[in-house]
Amino acid sequence: MSDGIVFIDGDYMAPEDATMSIFDVGFVWGDCVYDVTSTWNGWFFMLDEHLERFQRSCEGFRLENPYSFEEMRRICAECVERTGLANTYVKMQVSRGVPPPGVRDPRGLKPIVLVYAVPYVWIWGEDKCRNGATLYVSGVERVSSKAIDQRFKNYNRADLVQARLEAYDNGCDDALLASPDGFLSEGPGFNVFVVQDGRVASPDYNVLEGVTRRSVREICEREGIPFELRKIRPEELEEASEVFTSTTAGGVMPITGVNGKTVGNGHAGIVTSRIQSIYWSEREAGWHGVRPADILAH
Ligand code: PLP
Repeated sequence: MSDGIVFIDGDYMAPEDATMSIFDVGFVWGDCVYDVTSTWNGWFFMLDEHLERFQRSCEGFRLENPYSFEEMRRICAECVERTGLANTYVKMQVSRGVPPPGVRDPRGLKPIVLVYAVPYVWIWGEDKCRNGATLYVSGVERVSSKAIDQRFKNYNRADLVQARLEAYDNGCDDALLASPDGFLSEGPGFNVFVVQDGRVASPDYNVLEGVTRRSVREICEREGIPFELRKIRPEELEEASEVFTSTTAGGVMPITGVNGKTVGNGHAGIVTSRIQSIYWSEREAGWHGVRPADILAH
């Protein structure tokens, strides 16, 4: 099985041959934006939505991607085609680049574009992503969007990493963070949802507006399940009948425990399971999909 293909600075190569400068301020200052999409059963999912968000992230960070939207589509498709894999995790990023020695001005540097396709990633492993994981509400605050706009997917993730370490210390699989005003935001790589009285709700601000979350909303609207974006108190996690999360690298993922307490009956709830099974059967069938070979043929 291929372990992946990397595109960097105009060339495609094996992951072990891909290198970047240690002086790139994407690394040194976290001055870097990215996005992650995937293929499942040979279909990209919502590729253009990911590319559009990526474009907004670049603009938000005042980073110039030298490649056009169409060129990015083709580069993503080429990476996937070269792996020969049906199920892939596809990352694209733009970092500010390498300043001349002593230069601090970020303007005018040559941005570095990196894209890669690797075998599909499940953030908690396939079993936990499909059947349930546990979360810990961290004391670490999610950085405010007034400091770093969280709608732009970026590499300033130290808050997320510290929260996750705290979650591990407390015997949980991952973390949830609250915003500075105390309402829930998101976790390290996923959006969160509570289900109460059959209604699905997810935090309305200080989060990455997940593409998977958008597809959850679409499923809810189609199935007649009330869906809203609103402020959510952390205590609602313990009051909810169901809690679930969503991300590109895992799909719709049930949460069976929060802060050491069982959610619902300790298994994926009815609403969560319904949304999850529709999500995966639709993905299998190419929902919102395009095949890499079709992109390359045009
Ligand atoms: N929130 C954060 C902080 C993320 O990093 C991610 C994805 O990696 C998500 C939410 C989920 O977004 P998506 O569904 O577009 O993968």
